[in-house]
Amino acid sequence: MFMPEIEVNFDDCDSCGECVDVCPMEIFSLEGDVLSINHPDECIDCKVCVDVCPNGCISVN
Ligand code: SF4
Ligand code: SF4
Repeated sequence: MFMPEIEVNFDDCDSCGECVDVCPMEIFSLEGDVLSINHPDECIDCKVCVDVCPNGCISVN
């Protein structure tokens, strides 16, 4: 089964929460200013998170 690989450059992430808000599968979550990637196996490869991140820190391949 194809599973997209989600990578986040945490050094450039400023915890804005945009990816948390837009992901239809609720892959991302913020605990305070710590971003987590949850159940990446449910990612549907829509790449909305890649487009919305203002710092360009997300890649989905
Ligand atoms: S590609 Fe789509 S489903 Fe996957 S993490 Fe990004 S917004 Fe969520
Ligand atoms: S959209 Fe980018 S900068 Fe904002 S929380 Fe997500 S990964 Fe971090």
